[in-house]
This record gives sequence, C-alpha cells and structure tokens, in this order.
Amino acid sequence: MQNHSLKGKTALVTGSTSGIGLGIARSFAGAGANIIFNGFGDAQEIAALQAAVAQEFSVKTAYHNADMSKAAEITAMMDYATSQFGGVDILVNNAGIQHVANIEDFPVEKWDAIIAINLSSAFHTTRLALPGMKTKNWGRIINIASVHGLVASAQKSAYVAAKHGLVGFTKTTALETAHTGITCNAICPGWVLTPLVQKQVDARAAADKLSNDDAKKALLAEKQPSGEFVTPEQLGALAVFFCSDAANQVRGVAWNMDGGWVAQ
Ligand code: NAD
Repeated sequence: MQNHSLKGKTALVTGSTSGIGLGIARSFAGAGANIIFNGFGDAQEIAALQAAVAQEFSVKTAYHNADMSKAAEITAMMDYATSQFGGVDILVNNAGIQHVANIEDFPVEKWDAIIAINLSSAFHTTRLALPGMKTKNWGRIINIASVHGLVASAQKSAYVAAKHGLVGFTKTTALETAHTGITCNAICPGWVLTPLVQKQVDARAAADKLSNDDAKKALLAEKQPSGEFVTPEQLGALAVFFCSDAANQVRGVAWNMDGGWVAQ
C-alpha cells in the first residue's frame, strides 16, 4: 500500500538487507520516506535492492555497511546520514543475531556479539540521532525487541538479556524525550519466518528428524497460539503507525505482535 504520510522524512533501518528490517524499510518507502539501508550481504544484490525500492516507491535510497558491533562504524554511518540527508528523522534499531546454547556452553564471543549488536548498537545510534531530532523537534525511534524482551526461553540467555535491556532502554529514551516531538517505542515480534528463524527451523528438523514444514509447525505450536508466523509487512504497518500523528502520545511501550505468545 502506498501513501505519502512520511514524504520528506528520512528513515535509517539497521539490518535492513533481510527479513524484518527489509519489510519495515519497504513499508516506510511505501509511505514516502527516503531510506538508508544497512546490513550485510552481497554488494551487487544490495545495490539492486536499493534501486528497486527507489524505483517502486519514488523515494531516495542509500546504503551504509556499518557493522553494528563497532561503535566507530556506527558513528561513520550517522555522519553519512547527516551528509546525505541532513540527518535521520526515523531511526529503527533492528539489526540482530541469535545463538542458541545452554549458559554453561554459551561461547563468550557470541555473548559479547549479541549484546553489542542487539543492545549496545541502539545506544550508539540513539545518542547520535537525538541532537538532530531535538533541533527539528520531531523524531521517531523504534527498537525491534522481541517477545524475548518480555518473557524468556531456555538456551537464549544473551538474546533474552539483550532484548529485555532494549525494552528498558526504550523506556528511558521515551522519558528523556517526553517533552519533545520525539517518541521512542519498542516492537516485540513473536516468530517471523526470516533467515534468523529458518536456522532454528533447520536445527529442529535435524534434531527431531522432521520435514521443514513439520519443524515449522512444531516451533509455532510450542509458543505461538495462532499457529501462524507474524510477517515483516505486518510489523512494517505497525512501525508506520508509530510514525503517524495518531501515535504522538504512544511513548515507551513494548508492543507485542506475536500471535498470542505472551498472553499465555
Ligand atoms: P535476519 O537475519 O533476516 O536479518 C538480520 C539483519 O541484520 C540482516 O540485514 C543482517 O545483515 C543484519 N545484521 C546482522 N548483524 C549485523 C551487524 N553486525 N551489523 C549490521 N547489520 C547486521 O533476521 P530478522 O529475523 O529479520 O531479525 C531482525 C530483528 O528482529 C532482530 O533484532 C531480531 O532479534 C528481531 N526479531 C526477530 C524475530 C523473528 O522471529 N525472526 C522475532 C523477534 C525479534
């Protein structure tokens, strides 16, 4: 669906070369916002993606390859946004990784990477985006947390710690901006079928000797009462709502879209 409610705004979506971030970037482009993509992937494929979104939605697109685990690269990306677009109006902290293991077996470097990418990167982008947003007295910061920012699962210690941290950081950001035109909220998705989750489907299929389809059903049956995946497009529509005037007083929420996961 295309509208022009965000025309003239610039949205930076971290980790937008795939999955949820890409879905959100496309939804913002559909609402008329210029997009700064970020994330890993093949350079030619990313250039093609950028061009396709620019053409489909008649918006400007750009790309920065900052590694979200590195503060200096995040600074370079935010400087690039300022030089190309005069700053970031909408910041979506979405880049994230997962690793599944019991605590005593959890690789230390995986713990450090998950905390850096899924949590600390949001601090760095936010601290660098806020001055420009305050000057304009308008801004939207949307943190892609997870149901694991609200409840836990075994074997996901780093991810659960990072996502609970991100929900807390969202609340502090909302309080520090409460008297401004800047809002900060978190979105907490349940299972979304992206490459990050497909890895867990594959692991389940291998462990339990299941087909791909049966492994998906088993994963959903365990946690997500609707039995259906949430889609990147549905999450994108919620993110666009957060950027609307109707959401001016939605501040500091952790909004789950999870097929009933945390209602249990
Ligand atoms: P994905 O693997 O499809 O996409 C992750 C994106 O982040 C990719 O663009 C990747 O290149 C990028 N990325 C990874 N490490 C990076 C780094 N160091 N620097 C820059 N970019 C990096 O995963 P997804 O499922 O779309 O996940 C996106 C976000 O949504 C994550 O924060 C994840 O925790 C969260 N989430 C996902 C689900 C789900 O079910 N898929 C559920 C809840 C929350």
